[in-house]
Amino acid sequence: MAETDNRPTNFIRQIIDKDLANGVHARIHTRFPPEPNGYLHIGHAKSICLNFGLAQDYQGQCNLRFDDTNPEKEDIDYVNSIKHDVEWLGFHWDGDICYSSNYFPQLHQFAVELISKGLAYVDFSNHETVRELRGTLKQPGQNSPYRDTSVEENLLHFEKMKNGEYAEGQCSLRAKIDMASPFMCMRDPVLYRVKFAHHHQTGDQWCIYPMYDFTHCISDALEGITHSLCTLEFQDNRRLYDWVLENISIDCVPRQYEFSRLNLEYTVLSKRKLIQLVSDKHVEGWDDPRMPTVAGLRRRGYTSASIREFCKRIGVTKMDNMVEMGMLEACIRDDLNENAPRAMAVLDPVKVVIENYPQDKHEMLNAPNHPNDESQGTRQVPFGRELFIEREDFREEANKKFKRLVLDKEVRLRNAYFIKANRVDKDENGEITTIYCTYDPDTLGKDPADGRKAKGVIHWVSAEQGVPAEIRLYDRLFNVPNPAAEDDFVAAINSDSLQIKQGIVEPALVSLAQDKAVQFERTGYFCKDKHSSDTKLVFNRTVGLRDTWSNSNQN
Ligand code: ATP
Ligand code: MG
Repeated sequence: MAETDNRPTNFIRQIIDKDLANGVHARIHTRFPPEPNGYLHIGHAKSICLNFGLAQDYQGQCNLRFDDTNPEKEDIDYVNSIKHDVEWLGFHWDGDICYSSNYFPQLHQFAVELISKGLAYVDFSNHETVRELRGTLKQPGQNSPYRDTSVEENLLHFEKMKNGEYAEGQCSLRAKIDMASPFMCMRDPVLYRVKFAHHHQTGDQWCIYPMYDFTHCISDALEGITHSLCTLEFQDNRRLYDWVLENISIDCVPRQYEFSRLNLEYTVLSKRKLIQLVSDKHVEGWDDPRMPTVAGLRRRGYTSASIREFCKRIGVTKMDNMVEMGMLEACIRDDLNENAPRAMAVLDPVKVVIENYPQDKHEMLNAPNHPNDESQGTRQVPFGRELFIEREDFREEANKKFKRLVLDKEVRLRNAYFIKANRVDKDENGEITTIYCTYDPDTLGKDPADGRKAKGVIHWVSAEQGVPAEIRLYDRLFNVPNPAAEDDFVAAINSDSLQIKQGIVEPALVSLAQDKAVQFERTGYFCKDKHSSDTKLVFNRTVGLRDTWSNSNQN
Protein backbone atom coordinates (compact mmCIF):
# COMPACT_ATOMS: atom_id res chain seq x y z
CA MET A 1 0.00 0.00 0.00
CA ALA A 2 1.02 3.61 -0.29
CA GLU A 3 2.28 4.17 3.22
CA THR A 4 2.28 7.81 4.20
CA ASP A 5 5.84 9.12 3.99
CA ASN A 6 5.75 12.18 6.12
CA ARG A 7 6.74 10.76 9.45
CA PRO A 8 5.09 12.78 12.14
CA THR A 9 7.54 13.89 14.75
CA ASN A 10 7.02 12.86 18.35
CA PHE A 11 8.61 13.63 21.68
CA ILE A 12 11.07 10.76 21.36
CA ARG A 13 12.29 11.98 17.97
CA GLN A 14 12.71 15.42 19.49
CA ILE A 15 14.85 13.98 22.28
CA ILE A 16 16.96 12.08 19.75
CA ASP A 17 17.35 15.13 17.52
CA LYS A 18 18.57 17.09 20.52
CA ASP A 19 20.95 14.34 21.65
CA LEU A 20 22.46 14.16 18.18
CA ALA A 21 22.70 17.94 17.84
CA ASN A 22 24.34 18.31 21.26
CA GLY A 23 26.77 15.48 20.70
CA VAL A 24 25.33 13.41 23.56
CA HIS A 25 25.28 10.56 21.05
CA ALA A 26 26.90 10.20 17.66
CA ARG A 27 24.53 7.43 16.63
CA ILE A 28 21.43 5.88 18.04
CA HIS A 29 20.83 2.32 19.13
CA THR A 30 17.43 1.02 20.24
CA ARG A 31 16.11 -2.41 21.09
CA PHE A 32 12.85 -4.29 21.14
CA PRO A 33 12.82 -6.43 24.29
CA PRO A 34 9.94 -8.92 24.35
CA GLU A 35 9.60 -11.50 27.04
CA PRO A 36 9.08 -14.84 25.26
CA ASN A 37 6.00 -15.69 27.29
CA GLY A 38 3.35 -15.25 24.62
CA TYR A 39 2.76 -14.22 21.04
CA LEU A 40 3.22 -10.63 19.96
CA HIS A 41 0.11 -8.46 19.76
CA ILE A 42 -0.74 -5.20 18.05
CA GLY A 43 0.60 -3.28 21.08
CA HIS A 44 3.98 -4.90 20.54
CA ALA A 45 3.73 -3.91 16.89
CA LYS A 46 3.57 -0.29 18.06
CA SER A 47 6.78 -0.77 20.03
CA ILE A 48 8.42 -2.63 17.12
CA CYS A 49 7.55 0.10 14.62
CA LEU A 50 8.84 2.71 17.04
CA ASN A 51 12.15 1.04 17.90
CA PHE A 52 13.02 -0.43 14.51
CA GLY A 53 11.56 2.60 12.76
CA LEU A 54 13.82 5.00 14.67
CA ALA A 55 16.87 2.90 13.85
CA GLN A 56 15.91 2.96 10.17
CA ASP A 57 15.26 6.68 10.02
CA TYR A 58 18.40 7.70 11.88
CA GLN A 59 20.62 5.05 10.26
CA GLY A 60 21.14 3.58 13.69
CA GLN A 61 20.74 0.06 14.98
CA CYS A 62 18.00 -1.86 16.70
CA ASN A 63 18.47 -5.12 18.59
CA LEU A 64 15.95 -7.85 19.10
CA ARG A 65 16.47 -8.92 22.66
CA PHE A 66 14.57 -11.61 24.46
CA ASP A 67 14.05 -10.55 28.02
CA ASP A 68 14.15 -14.07 29.33
CA THR A 69 14.54 -14.03 33.08
CA ASN A 70 11.35 -15.91 33.89
CA PRO A 71 12.03 -19.46 32.72
CA GLU A 72 8.81 -20.95 34.05
CA LYS A 73 6.60 -18.82 31.82
CA GLU A 74 8.79 -18.82 28.75
CA ASP A 75 9.04 -21.16 25.85
CA ILE A 76 11.09 -21.66 22.70
CA ASP A 77 7.87 -21.67 20.63
CA TYR A 78 7.29 -18.11 21.76
CA VAL A 79 10.86 -17.20 20.82
CA ASN A 80 10.31 -18.56 17.32
CA SER A 81 6.93 -16.93 16.81
CA ILE A 82 8.32 -13.55 17.92
CA LYS A 83 11.25 -13.75 15.48
CA HIS A 84 8.87 -14.63 12.69
CA ASP A 85 6.44 -11.83 13.53
CA VAL A 86 9.15 -9.16 13.69
CA GLU A 87 10.43 -10.20 10.27
CA TRP A 88 6.94 -10.42 8.85
CA LEU A 89 6.29 -6.88 10.05
CA GLY A 90 9.17 -5.91 7.78
CA PHE A 91 12.00 -5.31 10.23
CA HIS A 92 15.49 -6.72 10.63
CA TRP A 93 17.47 -6.75 13.81
CA ASP A 94 21.11 -5.81 13.77
CA GLY A 95 23.62 -8.52 14.52
CA ASP A 96 22.72 -11.66 16.38
CA ILE A 97 19.57 -12.04 18.39
CA CYS A 98 20.26 -11.07 21.97
CA TYR A 99 19.05 -12.82 25.07
CA SER A 100 19.19 -11.35 28.55
CA SER A 101 20.18 -14.86 29.59
CA ASN A 102 23.42 -14.38 27.60
CA TYR A 103 24.34 -11.89 30.31
CA PHE A 104 23.65 -14.09 33.33
CA PRO A 105 27.39 -14.34 34.13
CA GLN A 106 27.87 -10.55 33.95
CA LEU A 107 24.66 -9.89 35.84
CA HIS A 108 25.89 -12.19 38.57
CA GLN A 109 29.19 -10.28 38.67
CA PHE A 110 27.40 -6.95 38.98
CA ALA A 111 25.29 -8.33 41.80
CA VAL A 112 28.48 -9.37 43.59
CA GLU A 113 29.80 -5.84 43.00
CA LEU A 114 26.74 -4.30 44.61
CA ILE A 115 27.06 -6.63 47.61
CA SER A 116 30.75 -5.76 47.92
CA LYS A 117 29.87 -2.08 47.97
CA GLY A 118 27.35 -2.68 50.74
CA LEU A 119 24.53 -1.95 48.31
CA ALA A 120 22.82 -5.32 48.30
CA TYR A 121 22.01 -7.97 50.88
CA VAL A 122 20.55 -11.42 51.14
CA ASP A 123 17.23 -11.29 52.94
CA PHE A 124 15.88 -14.41 54.66
CA SER A 125 12.61 -12.82 55.69
CA ASN A 126 9.64 -14.80 54.49
CA HIS A 127 7.28 -13.52 51.86
CA GLU A 128 4.77 -12.14 54.31
CA THR A 129 7.31 -10.26 56.38
CA VAL A 130 8.81 -8.73 53.27
CA ARG A 131 5.39 -7.52 52.24
CA GLU A 132 4.54 -6.14 55.66
CA LEU A 133 7.82 -4.30 55.97
CA ARG A 134 7.46 -2.76 52.52
CA GLY A 135 4.82 -0.32 53.79
CA THR A 136 2.23 1.29 51.55
CA LEU A 137 1.97 4.32 49.33
CA LYS A 138 0.96 6.31 52.42
CA GLN A 139 3.28 4.65 54.92
CA PRO A 140 7.03 4.31 54.69
CA GLY A 141 8.46 0.81 54.91
CA GLN A 142 10.76 -0.57 57.58
CA ASN A 143 14.19 -2.07 57.32
CA SER A 144 14.56 -5.81 57.13
CA PRO A 145 16.42 -7.39 60.06
CA TYR A 146 18.90 -8.73 57.47
CA ARG A 147 19.66 -5.31 56.03
CA ASP A 148 22.83 -4.78 58.04
CA THR A 149 24.41 -8.17 57.58
CA SER A 150 28.13 -7.76 56.81
CA VAL A 151 29.44 -7.70 53.24
CA GLU A 152 31.38 -10.94 53.83
CA GLU A 153 28.35 -12.78 55.10
CA ASN A 154 26.21 -11.52 52.22
CA LEU A 155 28.80 -12.65 49.68
CA LEU A 156 28.76 -16.07 51.25
CA HIS A 157 24.98 -16.31 51.28
CA PHE A 158 24.74 -15.17 47.67
CA GLU A 159 27.30 -17.78 46.68
CA LYS A 160 25.22 -20.39 48.48
CA MET A 161 22.10 -19.15 46.71
CA LYS A 162 23.88 -19.62 43.42
CA ASN A 163 25.04 -23.09 44.41
CA GLY A 164 21.53 -24.24 45.13
CA GLU A 165 21.96 -24.45 48.89
CA TYR A 166 18.83 -22.45 49.65
CA ALA A 167 15.29 -23.38 48.77
CA GLU A 168 12.97 -21.34 46.58
CA GLY A 169 11.43 -18.57 48.64
CA GLN A 170 13.91 -19.03 51.47
CA CYS A 171 15.85 -15.90 50.60
CA SER A 172 16.43 -13.30 47.93
CA LEU A 173 19.05 -10.74 47.05
CA ARG A 174 17.79 -7.19 47.56
CA ALA A 175 19.22 -3.81 46.70
CA LYS A 176 19.87 -1.61 49.71
CA ILE A 177 18.28 1.66 48.68
CA ASP A 178 15.65 3.37 50.79
CA MET A 179 12.72 1.77 52.63
CA ALA A 180 11.10 5.20 53.01
CA SER A 181 11.25 6.14 49.35
CA PRO A 182 7.99 7.52 47.92
CA PHE A 183 8.66 5.16 45.00
CA MET A 184 7.74 1.65 46.03
CA CYS A 185 10.18 0.19 43.51
CA MET A 186 13.05 1.85 45.43
CA ARG A 187 12.20 0.16 48.73
CA ASP A 188 14.98 -2.39 48.58
CA PRO A 189 13.77 -4.16 45.45
CA VAL A 190 14.57 -7.80 44.89
CA LEU A 191 17.46 -8.31 42.43
CA TYR A 192 17.74 -12.10 42.43
CA ARG A 193 15.59 -14.96 43.53
CA VAL A 194 16.07 -18.71 43.79
CA LYS A 195 14.30 -20.74 41.13
CA PHE A 196 15.06 -24.33 40.34
CA ALA A 197 13.74 -24.04 36.84
CA HIS A 198 14.98 -25.28 33.50
CA HIS A 199 15.69 -22.38 31.15
CA HIS A 200 15.10 -22.58 27.40
CA GLN A 201 18.52 -21.03 26.70
CA THR A 202 20.72 -21.83 29.69
CA GLY A 203 19.29 -25.20 30.65
CA ASP A 204 19.98 -26.11 34.28
CA GLN A 205 23.04 -23.94 34.61
CA TRP A 206 21.40 -21.47 36.98
CA CYS A 207 19.12 -21.78 39.97
CA ILE A 208 19.07 -18.05 40.68
CA TYR A 209 17.44 -15.70 38.23
CA PRO A 210 17.76 -11.90 38.08
CA MET A 211 14.67 -9.69 38.22
CA TYR A 212 13.49 -7.55 35.32
CA ASP A 213 14.55 -4.19 36.77
CA PHE A 214 18.07 -5.35 37.46
CA THR A 215 18.42 -7.17 34.15
CA HIS A 216 16.95 -4.67 31.77
CA CYS A 217 19.16 -1.68 32.42
CA ILE A 218 22.33 -3.79 32.47
CA SER A 219 21.35 -5.56 29.23
CA ASP A 220 20.74 -2.15 27.64
CA ALA A 221 24.14 -0.91 28.82
CA LEU A 222 26.00 -4.03 27.69
CA GLU A 223 24.49 -3.69 24.23
CA GLY A 224 25.29 0.00 23.95
CA ILE A 225 21.65 1.03 23.75
CA THR A 226 21.29 4.81 23.69
CA HIS A 227 17.51 5.24 24.03
CA SER A 228 15.64 2.57 25.95
CA LEU A 229 11.96 2.99 25.14
CA CYS A 230 9.28 1.38 27.24
CA THR A 231 5.69 1.91 28.23
CA LEU A 232 4.49 4.30 30.91
CA GLU A 233 3.99 1.78 33.69
CA PHE A 234 7.79 1.71 34.01
CA GLN A 235 8.00 5.42 34.74
CA ASP A 236 8.75 4.94 38.44
CA ASN A 237 11.13 2.10 37.69
CA ARG A 238 13.33 4.56 35.81
CA ARG A 239 14.74 5.55 39.23
CA LEU A 240 15.83 1.99 39.80
CA TYR A 241 17.14 1.72 36.23
CA ASP A 242 19.37 4.72 36.85
CA TRP A 243 20.33 3.63 40.37
CA VAL A 244 21.65 0.27 39.22
CA LEU A 245 23.71 1.76 36.39
CA GLU A 246 25.11 4.47 38.65
CA ASN A 247 26.31 1.95 41.19
CA ILE A 248 28.03 -0.63 39.02
CA SER A 249 31.19 -0.38 36.94
CA ILE A 250 29.83 0.06 33.48
CA ASP A 251 30.63 2.72 30.89
CA CYS A 252 27.57 3.03 28.78
CA VAL A 253 24.64 4.89 30.29
CA PRO A 254 21.47 4.42 28.29
CA ARG A 255 18.46 6.56 29.09
CA GLN A 256 14.96 5.22 29.53
CA TYR A 257 11.98 7.06 28.04
CA GLU A 258 8.38 6.06 28.45
CA PHE A 259 5.48 6.30 26.02
CA SER A 260 1.86 5.31 26.42
CA ARG A 261 0.90 1.77 25.57
CA LEU A 262 -1.63 1.01 22.90
CA ASN A 263 -5.10 0.12 24.10
CA LEU A 264 -7.56 -1.04 21.50
CA GLU A 265 -11.33 -1.13 21.91
CA TYR A 266 -13.23 -4.41 22.11
CA THR A 267 -10.14 -6.49 22.73
CA VAL A 268 -7.49 -7.20 25.36
CA LEU A 269 -3.77 -6.63 24.98
CA SER A 270 -2.41 -8.21 28.09
CA LYS A 271 -0.51 -11.40 27.52
CA ARG A 272 -1.91 -12.92 30.67
CA LYS A 273 -5.44 -12.46 29.34
CA LEU A 274 -4.55 -13.57 25.83
CA ILE A 275 -2.98 -16.74 27.23
CA GLN A 276 -6.20 -17.40 29.10
CA LEU A 277 -8.25 -17.04 25.91
CA VAL A 278 -6.01 -19.60 24.24
CA SER A 279 -5.58 -22.09 27.05
CA ASP A 280 -9.26 -22.07 28.01
CA LYS A 281 -10.13 -22.50 24.33
CA HIS A 282 -12.27 -19.41 23.96
CA VAL A 283 -10.47 -19.03 20.64
CA GLU A 284 -8.88 -21.49 18.25
CA GLY A 285 -5.33 -20.55 19.19
CA TRP A 286 -2.88 -17.65 19.21
CA ASP A 287 -3.52 -17.11 15.52
CA ASP A 288 -7.30 -17.20 15.71
CA PRO A 289 -8.37 -14.45 13.29
CA ARG A 290 -10.28 -12.71 16.09
CA MET A 291 -7.15 -12.35 18.23
CA PRO A 292 -5.30 -9.01 18.34
CA THR A 293 -2.05 -10.92 17.94
CA VAL A 294 0.20 -10.32 14.95
CA ALA A 295 -0.36 -13.97 14.02
CA GLY A 296 -4.13 -13.55 14.30
CA LEU A 297 -4.18 -10.37 12.24
CA ARG A 298 -2.01 -12.02 9.59
CA ARG A 299 -4.34 -15.00 9.37
CA ARG A 300 -7.28 -12.62 9.24
CA GLY A 301 -5.73 -11.06 6.14
CA TYR A 302 -4.04 -7.93 7.50
CA THR A 303 -0.95 -6.96 5.56
CA SER A 304 2.19 -5.89 7.37
CA ALA A 305 2.00 -2.57 5.52
CA SER A 306 -1.44 -1.91 7.00
CA ILE A 307 -0.19 -2.60 10.51
CA ARG A 308 2.81 -0.31 10.03
CA GLU A 309 0.47 2.35 8.70
CA PHE A 310 -1.77 1.93 11.75
CA CYS A 311 1.20 2.40 14.06
CA LYS A 312 2.10 5.55 12.16
CA ARG A 313 -1.42 6.94 12.39
CA ILE A 314 -1.77 6.39 16.15
CA GLY A 315 1.59 8.07 16.81
CA VAL A 316 3.64 8.05 19.98
CA THR A 317 2.73 10.15 22.99
CA LYS A 318 2.63 10.04 26.76
CA MET A 319 -1.15 10.24 26.81
CA ASP A 320 -3.09 7.19 27.87
CA ASN A 321 -5.89 6.49 25.44
CA MET A 322 -8.10 3.89 23.86
CA VAL A 323 -7.93 3.53 20.09
CA GLU A 324 -11.06 2.65 18.14
CA MET A 325 -11.10 -0.62 16.23
CA GLY A 326 -12.28 1.44 13.25
CA MET A 327 -8.80 3.01 13.08
CA LEU A 328 -7.15 -0.35 12.56
CA GLU A 329 -9.77 -1.46 10.06
CA ALA A 330 -9.46 1.77 8.08
CA CYS A 331 -5.79 0.97 7.51
CA ILE A 332 -6.40 -2.47 6.02
CA ARG A 333 -9.40 -1.24 4.08
CA ASP A 334 -7.36 1.56 2.50
CA ASP A 335 -4.67 -0.95 1.57
CA LEU A 336 -6.98 -3.57 0.10
CA ASN A 337 -9.27 -1.12 -1.64
CA GLU A 338 -6.26 -0.07 -3.65
CA ASN A 339 -4.58 -3.42 -4.11
CA ALA A 340 -6.98 -6.34 -3.77
CA PRO A 341 -8.42 -7.77 -7.01
CA ARG A 342 -12.20 -8.09 -7.20
CA ALA A 343 -14.09 -11.34 -7.45
CA MET A 344 -17.64 -12.55 -6.99
CA ALA A 345 -18.79 -14.83 -4.20
CA VAL A 346 -22.24 -15.49 -2.83
CA LEU A 347 -22.29 -15.98 0.92
CA ASP A 348 -25.90 -17.04 1.33
CA PRO A 349 -26.96 -18.50 -2.02
CA VAL A 350 -30.40 -18.77 -3.56
CA LYS A 351 -30.83 -20.27 -7.04
CA VAL A 352 -31.77 -18.23 -10.11
CA VAL A 353 -32.94 -19.91 -13.31
CA ILE A 354 -32.90 -17.79 -16.47
CA GLU A 355 -35.67 -19.39 -18.45
CA ASN A 356 -34.98 -17.73 -21.80
CA TYR A 357 -31.27 -18.61 -21.69
CA PRO A 358 -30.60 -21.70 -23.85
CA GLN A 359 -30.24 -24.97 -21.90
CA ASP A 360 -26.93 -25.98 -23.37
CA LYS A 361 -25.34 -22.56 -23.67
CA HIS A 362 -22.29 -21.45 -21.67
CA GLU A 363 -20.45 -18.18 -21.90
CA MET A 364 -17.26 -16.82 -20.48
CA LEU A 365 -17.73 -13.15 -19.65
CA ASN A 366 -14.90 -10.73 -19.28
CA ALA A 367 -14.63 -8.96 -15.93
CA PRO A 368 -12.11 -6.34 -14.81
CA ASN A 369 -10.04 -7.34 -11.78
CA HIS A 370 -10.04 -3.82 -10.42
CA PRO A 371 -12.40 -0.95 -11.24
CA ASN A 372 -9.73 1.77 -11.03
CA ASP A 373 -6.60 -0.09 -11.98
CA GLU A 374 -6.48 -1.46 -15.50
CA SER A 375 -3.03 -2.88 -14.91
CA GLN A 376 -4.64 -5.62 -12.80
CA GLY A 377 -6.16 -6.99 -16.00
CA THR A 378 -9.32 -8.96 -16.54
CA ARG A 379 -10.55 -12.47 -15.89
CA GLN A 380 -13.13 -14.81 -17.40
CA VAL A 381 -16.26 -15.50 -15.39
CA PRO A 382 -18.53 -18.39 -16.44
CA PHE A 383 -22.18 -17.51 -17.03
CA GLY A 384 -25.02 -19.95 -17.59
CA ARG A 385 -28.71 -20.60 -17.29
CA GLU A 386 -28.50 -21.31 -13.57
CA LEU A 387 -26.86 -18.95 -11.13
CA PHE A 388 -26.71 -18.20 -7.46
CA ILE A 389 -27.37 -14.78 -6.04
CA GLU A 390 -27.40 -13.55 -2.47
CA ARG A 391 -30.65 -14.44 -0.70
CA GLU A 392 -30.88 -10.94 0.72
CA ASP A 393 -30.62 -9.47 -2.78
CA PHE A 394 -34.14 -10.62 -3.68
CA ARG A 395 -37.57 -9.63 -2.40
CA GLU A 396 -40.97 -10.45 -3.71
CA GLU A 397 -42.06 -6.95 -2.82
CA ALA A 398 -40.04 -3.94 -1.82
CA ASN A 399 -40.15 -0.18 -1.70
CA LYS A 400 -38.02 2.11 -3.84
CA LYS A 401 -35.11 2.06 -1.45
CA PHE A 402 -34.41 -1.59 -2.18
CA LYS A 403 -32.01 -1.38 -5.11
CA ARG A 404 -31.83 -5.08 -5.85
CA LEU A 405 -33.96 -7.74 -7.48
CA VAL A 406 -37.74 -7.60 -6.98
CA LEU A 407 -40.53 -9.56 -8.69
CA ASP A 408 -41.42 -8.00 -12.05
CA LYS A 409 -38.44 -5.63 -11.86
CA GLU A 410 -35.05 -5.56 -13.53
CA VAL A 411 -31.59 -5.58 -12.01
CA ARG A 412 -28.13 -5.75 -13.57
CA LEU A 413 -25.97 -8.75 -12.86
CA ARG A 414 -22.46 -7.45 -12.28
CA ASN A 415 -20.29 -7.85 -15.40
CA ALA A 416 -23.26 -9.47 -17.17
CA TYR A 417 -26.84 -8.87 -18.25
CA PHE A 418 -30.11 -7.33 -17.07
CA ILE A 419 -32.43 -9.93 -15.56
CA LYS A 420 -36.06 -9.63 -14.60
CA ALA A 421 -37.64 -11.78 -11.86
CA ASN A 422 -40.91 -13.44 -12.88
CA ARG A 423 -41.90 -15.96 -10.21
CA VAL A 424 -40.51 -18.08 -7.38
CA ASP A 425 -40.67 -21.61 -6.00
CA LYS A 426 -40.86 -22.10 -2.26
CA ASP A 427 -40.38 -25.06 0.05
CA GLU A 428 -42.88 -26.23 2.67
CA ASN A 429 -41.59 -23.59 5.12
CA GLY A 430 -42.26 -20.78 2.71
CA GLU A 431 -38.56 -20.33 2.02
CA ILE A 432 -37.72 -19.37 -1.55
CA THR A 433 -35.82 -22.15 -3.34
CA THR A 434 -35.66 -20.82 -6.89
CA ILE A 435 -36.21 -17.47 -8.58
CA TYR A 436 -37.26 -17.74 -12.23
CA CYS A 437 -36.03 -14.89 -14.37
CA THR A 438 -35.60 -13.79 -17.97
CA TYR A 439 -32.58 -11.96 -19.28
CA ASP A 440 -32.11 -9.34 -21.95
CA PRO A 441 -29.33 -10.52 -24.33
CA ASP A 442 -28.77 -6.95 -25.56
CA THR A 443 -27.54 -5.63 -22.23
CA LEU A 444 -24.06 -7.14 -21.99
CA GLY A 445 -21.73 -4.23 -21.31
CA LYS A 446 -24.36 -1.69 -22.42
CA ASP A 447 -27.68 -0.24 -21.36
CA PRO A 448 -30.82 -1.21 -23.23
CA ALA A 449 -31.55 0.85 -26.32
CA ASP A 450 -34.99 1.87 -25.05
CA GLY A 451 -33.51 3.65 -22.04
CA ARG A 452 -34.79 1.20 -19.37
CA LYS A 453 -32.93 1.46 -16.08
CA ALA A 454 -32.03 -1.34 -13.72
CA LYS A 455 -32.80 -0.94 -10.02
CA GLY A 456 -29.27 -1.78 -9.10
CA VAL A 457 -26.33 -4.09 -9.63
CA ILE A 458 -25.97 -7.39 -7.80
CA HIS A 459 -23.28 -10.07 -7.78
CA TRP A 460 -23.77 -13.70 -8.77
CA VAL A 461 -21.95 -16.97 -9.36
CA SER A 462 -22.59 -19.67 -11.95
CA ALA A 463 -24.41 -22.59 -10.34
CA GLU A 464 -22.69 -25.12 -12.54
CA GLN A 465 -19.16 -23.82 -12.35
CA GLY A 466 -19.15 -22.00 -9.04
CA VAL A 467 -17.18 -23.69 -6.27
CA PRO A 468 -18.52 -24.25 -2.76
CA ALA A 469 -16.56 -22.47 -0.04
CA GLU A 470 -16.78 -22.10 3.70
CA ILE A 471 -16.81 -18.41 4.50
CA ARG A 472 -16.01 -17.18 7.99
CA LEU A 473 -17.32 -13.83 9.13
CA TYR A 474 -15.87 -12.34 12.27
CA ASP A 475 -17.26 -9.89 14.72
CA ARG A 476 -15.60 -8.24 17.71
CA LEU A 477 -14.35 -10.72 20.29
CA PHE A 478 -15.86 -8.80 23.21
CA ASN A 479 -19.18 -7.11 23.82
CA VAL A 480 -17.76 -4.14 25.70
CA PRO A 481 -15.24 -1.51 24.56
CA ASN A 482 -12.90 -2.10 27.49
CA PRO A 483 -13.08 -5.75 28.57
CA ALA A 484 -9.93 -5.39 30.67
CA ALA A 485 -11.89 -3.11 33.01
CA GLU A 486 -14.50 -5.80 33.71
CA ASP A 487 -14.31 -7.87 36.89
CA ASP A 488 -14.44 -10.94 34.70
CA PHE A 489 -13.31 -10.19 31.18
CA VAL A 490 -14.24 -13.71 30.04
CA ALA A 491 -17.90 -12.95 30.77
CA ALA A 492 -17.70 -10.14 28.22
CA ILE A 493 -16.73 -12.45 25.37
CA ASN A 494 -19.06 -12.10 22.39
CA SER A 495 -20.49 -15.55 21.79
CA ASP A 496 -21.42 -14.62 18.21
CA SER A 497 -18.01 -13.50 17.08
CA LEU A 498 -17.74 -16.19 14.43
CA GLN A 499 -20.36 -16.84 11.80
CA ILE A 500 -19.77 -19.60 9.26
CA LYS A 501 -21.45 -19.47 5.87
CA GLN A 502 -21.57 -22.11 3.17
CA GLY A 503 -21.15 -19.99 0.06
CA ILE A 504 -20.30 -20.31 -3.61
CA VAL A 505 -17.36 -18.56 -5.22
CA GLU A 506 -16.28 -18.03 -8.79
CA PRO A 507 -13.88 -20.75 -9.98
CA ALA A 508 -10.89 -18.42 -10.46
CA LEU A 509 -10.62 -18.26 -6.67
CA VAL A 510 -9.50 -21.87 -6.41
CA SER A 511 -6.06 -20.81 -7.58
CA LEU A 512 -5.87 -17.65 -5.47
CA ALA A 513 -2.58 -17.66 -3.56
CA GLN A 514 -2.80 -18.32 0.16
CA ASP A 515 -1.40 -14.94 1.15
CA LYS A 516 -3.39 -12.89 -1.36
CA ALA A 517 -6.33 -10.73 -0.42
CA VAL A 518 -9.39 -10.36 -2.59
CA GLN A 519 -12.49 -8.21 -2.53
CA PHE A 520 -15.70 -10.20 -2.85
CA GLU A 521 -17.79 -7.56 -4.54
CA ARG A 522 -20.27 -5.96 -2.19
CA THR A 523 -19.44 -8.19 0.82
CA GLY A 524 -15.94 -7.28 1.92
CA TYR A 525 -12.27 -8.22 1.77
CA PHE A 526 -11.32 -11.84 2.20
CA CYS A 527 -8.31 -14.13 2.26
CA LYS A 528 -7.89 -17.87 2.25
CA ASP A 529 -7.61 -19.37 5.69
CA LYS A 530 -4.64 -21.59 6.51
CA HIS A 531 -7.05 -24.55 6.56
CA SER A 532 -8.12 -23.90 2.97
CA SER A 533 -7.14 -26.51 0.39
CA ASP A 534 -7.89 -27.22 -3.26
CA THR A 535 -10.59 -29.63 -2.19
CA LYS A 536 -12.06 -27.46 0.55
CA LEU A 537 -11.99 -23.70 0.19
CA VAL A 538 -12.13 -21.67 3.40
CA PHE A 539 -12.15 -17.88 3.41
CA ASN A 540 -11.82 -15.41 6.26
CA ARG A 541 -13.41 -12.02 6.03
CA THR A 542 -10.65 -9.57 6.84
CA VAL A 543 -12.94 -6.56 7.01
CA GLY A 544 -16.21 -5.33 5.55
CA LEU A 545 -16.35 -2.68 2.87
CA ARG A 546 -17.53 0.05 5.21
CA ASP A 547 -16.86 1.02 8.80
CA THR A 548 -19.50 -0.76 10.83
CA TRP A 549 -18.05 0.11 14.22
CA SER A 550 -18.52 3.80 14.69
CA ASN A 551 -22.21 4.18 13.85
CA SER A 552 -24.60 1.30 14.16
CA ASN A 553 -21.91 -1.07 15.45
CA GLN A 554 -23.22 -4.06 13.66
CA ASN A 555 -21.37 -6.34 11.38
P1 ATP B 1 1.89 -7.59 28.58
O1 ATP B 1 1.55 -6.50 29.55
O2 ATP B 1 0.91 -7.81 27.52
O3 ATP B 1 2.33 -8.86 29.23
P2 ATP B 1 4.58 -6.82 28.33
O4 ATP B 1 4.87 -5.40 28.41
O5 ATP B 1 4.87 -7.59 29.56
O6 ATP B 1 3.13 -7.03 27.79
P3 ATP B 1 6.84 -7.53 26.82
O7 ATP B 1 7.12 -8.76 26.09
O8 ATP B 1 7.66 -7.24 28.04
O9 ATP B 1 5.31 -7.53 27.16
O10 ATP B 1 6.88 -6.29 25.84
C1 ATP B 1 7.93 -6.00 24.96
C2 ATP B 1 7.90 -4.55 24.62
O11 ATP B 1 6.66 -4.22 24.02
C3 ATP B 1 8.05 -3.71 25.85
O12 ATP B 1 8.96 -2.67 25.59
C4 ATP B 1 6.67 -3.17 26.10
O13 ATP B 1 6.70 -1.94 26.73
C5 ATP B 1 6.08 -3.12 24.70
N1 ATP B 1 4.63 -3.25 24.75
C6 ATP B 1 3.92 -4.24 25.31
N2 ATP B 1 2.61 -4.00 25.23
C7 ATP B 1 2.47 -2.82 24.59
C8 ATP B 1 1.35 -2.02 24.20
N3 ATP B 1 0.09 -2.38 24.45
N4 ATP B 1 1.60 -0.86 23.55
C9 ATP B 1 2.86 -0.48 23.28
N5 ATP B 1 3.94 -1.18 23.63
C10 ATP B 1 3.77 -2.34 24.28
MG1 MG C 1 7.04 -6.93 30.24
